[in-house]
Amino acid sequence: MEQIFENIYRIGVPLPGSPLRELSCWFVKGLPGERNLMVDCGFNNDACEQAVRAALDELGCTMDDTDIFLTHLHADHTGLCGRLKTVNNRVYIRACDGARVNGFLTDVYWDNMRAFLPPMGVPEADRMDVRDHPAYKNRISAPVEFTDVNDGWRISVGGYHFEAVDLAGHTPGQLGLWEREKKFMISGDHVLARITPNICLWDYDNDYLAIYLRNLKKVKTMQLDTLLTAHRKVITEVDARIDELTAHHARRLDEICNILESGDATVWQLAHAMHWDFGTGNFADFPPSQRWFALLEVFAHAEHLRRIEKVSCDKQESGWLYHMNH
Ligand SMILES: [Zn+2]
Repeated sequence: MEQIFENIYRIGVPLPGSPLRELSCWFVKGLPGERNLMVDCGFNNDACEQAVRAALDELGCTMDDTDIFLTHLHADHTGLCGRLKTVNNRVYIRACDGARVNGFLTDVYWDNMRAFLPPMGVPEADRMDVRDHPAYKNRISAPVEFTDVNDGWRISVGGYHFEAVDLAGHTPGQLGLWEREKKFMISGDHVLARITPNICLWDYDNDYLAIYLRNLKKVKTMQLDTLLTAHRKVITEVDARIDELTAHHARRLDEICNILESGDATVWQLAHAMHWDFGTGNFADFPPSQRWFALLEVFAHAEHLRRIEKVSCDKQESGWLYHMNH
């Protein structure tokens, strides 16, 4: 555990089996008489729980005195919250993400996830099992009673005044906690150093890449000195990193267009033709857990291109076949 600012601590929570390696759980210690606030907590497993509880002991705090704010639905942020919930604390999350966290316990959630495979053109023999999805393995064990929060919600703790900010894109309901006066934000997975946050397709009603890019641009207008991110290093060159991420997605869109220039392709075929900064760089070598994220990321980019009318797609039974508009 390390102290970053007055009353703000970073608890390193190990993420066994995940290429992310570690989650930064941000702990804001309340002033005398105040409750504490923990932001994100880790997978639902013993290693994560031990790391969090050891830090609580060191800080002289208990979960009864500590509320939890979950930036977004991913299991590395939320899985542990059921073990940390007591009758005396609250778990804050935006409603659309909270519903999905409890949804991880239902068949209907995973049936919907499985239903993305045919449109992406994944051959039957190659279809990943939902049990390989990280959110399946590391999810909560029983439904959790969440307290809904939204863009504009405010909380004062530890001498800080935080305002919840809509950071949707990485998930449908990601929120950050913005300290406007002190020019920093606890920003979940919206902007990460060295790794590019995964942008998935979550449904067919929204253009998640466009939402993400819009919320990247928004953060640039906030004049932040520091992002307390959920993985890897704290970011101090905020605008420069946002520019890099924006450029990354522009390159990805170009890459897809270049592939489609030489022939129509499904998401499955695009994923094989694209270059990846993971493992060997070849999608064919990815473990099933990473295939879920990679394919849904390609799908989000392809659907963005379709919405801006750069490409069209024929919805064939063997997969949606994308082609360039000329
Ligand atoms: Zn995430």
